[in-house]
Amino acid sequence: MDKAEQKMRFLYALRSKGVTDTRVLAAMESIDRGLFVRGIFADRAYEDVPLPIACGQTISQPSVVALMTQALEVSPRDKVLEVGTGSGYQAAILSQLARRVYTVDRHKRLVREADAVFKALDLANITAFAADGSFGLPDQAPFDRIILTAAAEDPPGPLLAQLRIGGIMVLPVGQSDAVQSLIKVTRGESGLEYEELRPVRFVPLVEGLVQD
Ligand code: SAH
Repeated sequence: MDKAEQKMRFLYALRSKGVTDTRVLAAMESIDRGLFVRGIFADRAYEDVPLPIACGQTISQPSVVALMTQALEVSPRDKVLEVGTGSGYQAAILSQLARRVYTVDRHKRLVREADAVFKALDLANITAFAADGSFGLPDQAPFDRIILTAAAEDPPGPLLAQLRIGGIMVLPVGQSDAVQSLIKVTRGESGLEYEELRPVRFVPLVEGLVQD
């Protein structure tokens, strides 16, 4: 299969899973997932499957990345926080839609490797930090949008506190070894609203920084 056909199938798979937002589809088309998957799995980068990355983590399934991005309703003025940089792929997609993206991971090695890809692609509006993302980034708060790509049992309080009024947070919640739910939290003038989107499966949100 040649590159063009691979790309056509990739975009078709996204549409058939319910990705209809043209800005999200354009971002998925412009960022090459192949640059974020290394080693023996690299040739499967254009399939709609999650794949292993370093540090025992996973790069999410492209259709899940796209559906979460769509649910986040990112506008070009938004400042976005992502918890769980992993390969950097989700942050790269967000960088096409937002003004500024902050992304944090507890594994220093993943942040280092993702940052090298951001630099190579000249994605200058992404800042990556090694940190325990459960506490958010108080210095950069508040955020218009927050996305977690690791599952918490409940939405972490510090992250809810760093969500601006009118802001949206999308995250998987539930036990790590069970099916989790993708949740959309909206902060209105009078409080938080919760909407359950779909069942998902993510690696767990874990405490503490890893110096690797
Ligand atoms: N968004 C990624 C996939 C992330 S996998 C991508 O596009 O490739 C989930 C990531 O969350 C893992 O890299 C894991 O190290 C990270 N993680 C888990 N708990 C965390 C925490 N408390 N703070 C920051 N990152 C965390």
